[in-house]
Amino acid sequence: MVQFDLHSHSNLSDGALSPKELVMRAKSKGVACLALTDHDTFSGIEEARLTAKEAKLALLAGVEISACWHKLDVHVVGLDFNSDDEGFGRRLEGQRQARWTRAEKIAQKLEQRGIPGTLEEARIKAKDQVVGRPVFAQILVDRGIVKDRGQAFKKHLKVGKPAYVMTEWVSMEESIEWIHQAGGLAVLAHPGRYPISKTKLRRLVADFKTLGGDGIEVSTSTHKVSDIDFLAKLSCENELYSSQGSDFHLPESHWAELGKFPPLPEVCEPIWNKRGWESQI
Ligand code: AMP
Ligand code: MN
Ligand code: MN
Ligand code: MN
Repeated sequence: MVQFDLHSHSNLSDGALSPKELVMRAKSKGVACLALTDHDTFSGIEEARLTAKEAKLALLAGVEISACWHKLDVHVVGLDFNSDDEGFGRRLEGQRQARWTRAEKIAQKLEQRGIPGTLEEARIKAKDQVVGRPVFAQILVDRGIVKDRGQAFKKHLKVGKPAYVMTEWVSMEESIEWIHQAGGLAVLAHPGRYPISKTKLRRLVADFKTLGGDGIEVSTSTHKVSDIDFLAKLSCENELYSSQGSDFHLPESHWAELGKFPPLPEVCEPIWNKRGWESQI
């Protein structure tokens, strides 16, 4: 069985490992084909590709785009695109700008709640990375305001909480177009994780197909068995390919280890069949 892990992060976004370390860890966990899918950047691909070549592991260019669908934040994974595509790179630059604008607003909201100076700290911590809410979560942990990152999201940063900021992400439709223009496949990330009803989830997946999306992530570390069964059904009904990935960020998060998630149900048409990725291994 070839192990595909088509969703992972490096320290160029909110992961802990460098692209090189990530690829080596994937190798040691038995992954044969890895996609590095950092948030709104693919600047780690080159380093990952070089390491993958040495380690004899197949590496796909990837990215996870923050996008907007009817005021809901969704994530769209792009796979196997041309990472020399300058137009795609420029578009993602706009997303990263939107992240810094959001960071300013998050810091203002925290300040209003008696937590000052987080923007300066975020600038130091994020340095050359793509800035995201995990940086603020870590600041709150480091200051002893919350016990862990999970609590930081739960009490301050997630939707409906005081430091949550609505962001002007690219629309889901456009994110799919960007990926296609660069020659990639568009996959709806972790559909089981969005805070919506099953009815709305059905509509989201159907819309994703209508807008040209190629596949959905059926198996990922945060999906329960019931999510996987439901999403396998939805992928069949909508004639979408099925994808899988750990969404690995940190070695400490043992529940989202590289290569560790349930296999796709038999009924699924795996996305690697669309382009014959198996033969590249
Ligand atoms: P952002 O892309 O900046 O909006 O941040 C979202 C990221 O924060 C996700 O990709 C996860 O890595 C992380 N995240 C989201 N929710 C939680 C949570 N409840 N606990 C810890 N990390 C989270
Ligand atoms: Mn993340
Ligand atoms: Mn995500
Ligand atoms: Mn992710």
